[in-house]
Amino acid sequence: WSVETVAVVTGANRGIGFEIVRQLAGHGVTVILTSREASAGIEASSVLQELGLSVAFHQLDVLDDSSIKEFCEWVKEQYGGIDILVNNAGVNFNLGSENSVEFARMVVDTNYYAIKKVTKAMIPLIRPSQAGGRIVNVSSRLGRVNGKRNRIENEELRAKLNDLETLSEELIDGMMSKFLEQVEDGSWESGGWPLTNTDYSVSKLGVNCYTRLLAKEMADNRGEGEKIFVNCYCPGWVKTAMTGWAGTISAEDGADTGVWLALLPDQAITGKFFAERREIGF
Ligand code: NDP
Repeated sequence: WSVETVAVVTGANRGIGFEIVRQLAGHGVTVILTSREASAGIEASSVLQELGLSVAFHQLDVLDDSSIKEFCEWVKEQYGGIDILVNNAGVNFNLGSENSVEFARMVVDTNYYAIKKVTKAMIPLIRPSQAGGRIVNVSSRLGRVNGKRNRIENEELRAKLNDLETLSEELIDGMMSKFLEQVEDGSWESGGWPLTNTDYSVSKLGVNCYTRLLAKEMADNRGEGEKIFVNCYCPGWVKTAMTGWAGTISAEDGADTGVWLALLPDQAITGKFFAERREIGF
């Protein structure tokens, strides 16, 4: 990896995203630190620039179509393309309570739909290379299809999500629509959704399923030298604003597996879910 390698990290003005930028840049990669609030991102990137790291800044609100478009145009103009995309930006409004679905639409839009939008906009910018392009999605164990606890109860849907033959964007989007419909009409509690951190868990379930699906598409539809490897990971319970700094590990440790996946020399690894640099089941 060299300064010629360009990585983009979303939601990187603080927390795990900021650490991912710092560590990737520490490996010699040029990193574009993005944030929805320009002032916060400029401040964060200047801290890293002062350390002598190759870090640039650009505004990117993952919920804003025009911001995504403008960002992509800027990347094309400045760098020609990128090699690594880390989808890190996320929200969780369950802090301080076991559960709430009050902000379900915002959570699903940010954590699931925005990842798809940013990824689809950026894939054409991921340049062909021997190492292969990399997409890393920061997800959560709370969104496992087959977790022992906190999984969706609908067995038929689980079976469809588990099977790459039946897994599709329509299936995942349909699940999100059904969930949000039930939140809006007040019937979600009987819907068989995860019982804690419900909206967040459903959003990350979407991320996990989309990661598998996209990895398959990228493996099937792109020629040699144009491959893109797509994985997701759970950073653990991390001391950041999202957990009210109540986590058990530092943002530095939470970033580790994401950086490892972004720089992984083994190209055969795609469509998998990791924690602590180990594959765990979806
Ligand atoms: P933080 O709350 O510290 O950081 C979240 C980041 O996402 C912030 O930079 C925030 O920006 C940004 N963000 C939110 N919405 C948008 C948006 N619309 N556009 C651009 N950026 C946005 O949380 P963490 O660092 O802990 O979380 C990072 C990722 O890790 C998330 O995806 C989270 O779900 C995941 N994760 C975290 C765990 C933990 O224990 N902390 C556990 C499992 C997963 P702003 O500063 O403007 O709000």
